[in-house]
Amino acid sequence: MAVMIRQKTIIKETATRGLGLHSGRDINVKLKPAPANRGIAFKRSDRPGSPALPAKSGNVTSTTLATTLGRGDNSVSTVEHLMATLLALGVDNLLVEVDGPELPVFDGSAVEWVRLLSEAGLVEQNAPRGHYRVTRPYQVASGDKSISVRPASRFSVEAHIDFGGAIGRHCFYYVESEPAFIREISRSRTFCQLKDVEMMHRQGLALGGSLANAVVVGDDGILNPEGLRYNDEFVRHKILDFIGDLAMAGVPVIGQFVLHKPGHELNRRFLIEALAQPGLLEMTRPGAEKGQSVHRPTYDQPSDDLPTDARSLLPRLTLTLEEALPSIGL
Ligand SMILES: [Zn+2]
Repeated sequence: MAVMIRQKTIIKETATRGLGLHSGRDINVKLKPAPANRGIAFKRSDRPGSPALPAKSGNVTSTTLATTLGRGDNSVSTVEHLMATLLALGVDNLLVEVDGPELPVFDGSAVEWVRLLSEAGLVEQNAPRGHYRVTRPYQVASGDKSISVRPASRFSVEAHIDFGGAIGRHCFYYVESEPAFIREISRSRTFCQLKDVEMMHRQGLALGGSLANAVVVGDDGILNPEGLRYNDEFVRHKILDFIGDLAMAGVPVIGQFVLHKPGHELNRRFLIEALAQPGLLEMTRPGAEKGQSVHRPTYDQPSDDLPTDARSLLPRLTLTLEEALPSIGL
């Protein structure tokens, strides 16, 4: 009998701040626990009365340089690195309050989100987590770019990029697990070419962009004095972005993915088209009917009065984070 996997949220509210890549502004973010079955949603705290934006593929309105949820005044951009971290660490329900039009970029990677979620701690909720099972092979392509998926019992991503020049050609294979995400994927940074930075600045974009929050590649190589974190950092970051964009399905999509030259727009198109294919993605809730076989303390409505040792409810996550964090220098 399948064991029920429970939904999770964070144990306590937590906050951070940082520079917005495109606005160049200082942005404040609060992560708040949310009830089971609520999902991930973003709310603009600087626009009282604006409805919360559920992190779902139908709400993705722009994929220029980053992934944006919502439209016009009520939108939040650059959500993909947080979304990837939430999916990888198994956070199903969360309210993200942000006082500007984008999330902070931090160092261009997902490390700060991993740190913040580990500080908040995670707690299981009294509801089963569903996921989409891929029932048959499927592919979306555009020129020499493509995303394909096959049925599999675990989520994995094999990605290939070929930029030529100083970025070059790389591939990487990721098989989902919390430690693998933290060690292999979360530290990889956004990258861009110097000529694109100059063009974006002329358009008033990427005003906060600097060598502190992206790998910048010139004609003769990498401009960042510290160099790369991995020699294949670029392709690892493409996997980070893909996981974040795929998280817009609302639940994990379990399958074996192969990406060729992926980007936010192809990621978005893949998900929307896959969701529209009859019978391709089958929603399952393992053990939902007979989930009582596993008994653990759970909280329907996480709040500040959770016991201080609530973190001990999650030995697996706590252990893997403690194991993994020293290795990435946090
Ligand atoms: Zn990215």
